[in-house]
Amino acid sequence: MGYLRDSHRIVVKVGTSTLTHNTGHLNLRRIEKLVKVLSDMKNHGIQVVLVSSGAVSAGVAKVGFGRIPSSTEEKQAMAAIGQSELMKMYDRFFSDYGHTVAQILMTKDVLSNPVRRSAAENTFNRLLEMNCIPIVNENDSVSTDELTKFGGNDILSAYVSQLCGADVLLNLSDIDGLYDSDPRTNPEAKLIERVETLDDSVFAIAGGAGSSRGTGGMIAKLNAAKIVTESGIPMFILNGKDPEILYELLDGGHIGTYFVADKK
Ligand code: GLU
Repeated sequence: MGYLRDSHRIVVKVGTSTLTHNTGHLNLRRIEKLVKVLSDMKNHGIQVVLVSSGAVSAGVAKVGFGRIPSSTEEKQAMAAIGQSELMKMYDRFFSDYGHTVAQILMTKDVLSNPVRRSAAENTFNRLLEMNCIPIVNENDSVSTDELTKFGGNDILSAYVSQLCGADVLLNLSDIDGLYDSDPRTNPEAKLIERVETLDDSVFAIAGGAGSSRGTGGMIAKLNAAKIVTESGIPMFILNGKDPEILYELLDGGHIGTYFVADKK
């Protein structure tokens, strides 16, 4: 099955732990590789929307803050600093491969307001028609409550996939996919290649597995998978450590965990 070959529009979500070193500074080598692969996908004729985390971490590193921000105000200030740092890198690297980026910062209330929702849809469509690569993050500097916050970029990427009418969501994580038990504690853990039905039994095996710097965790990824598959969009969880593995998908191979979309 040609998972990507038949796709016209994809959303790629990449998390903080993939984009930054343990110091919090941007992992330039990895970002550059990711940008090269995504540029190649564009060149192949696939429209790409990138949902990128990393703003808070990049802000902390940039100003030498020295600790994880504890208050909402600190986090929001770090996001504001880091977001421009992040976009500067993406702009530089994508420009090297001849592509134009566009920043979209989202708050959750956009989804429930028909006028703003339709404005967001139109903007995505227009940018993609213009051959740009929209780069999306939560508008951390202004979203504070349940109405405005998505609660992490896994969920944001699921809603962005719906808004753009994506053919598939690729969730790049710091783990190869969903395992039948926690691979960090059980060496016998096996990767689940395909999930046909995302029911409670799947949530039960995911447990609390997560990474140290991102906000994701496997449960958040499964919640994202539930949102997209229920609206007819399949999702992959893949390891973002080596972005070049995405070529395997492009070549028709299978990597990571594939969540089958519900039939519409
Ligand atoms: N929006 C946050 C950031 O850019 C990340 C949220 C997440 O990783 O889920 O730092």
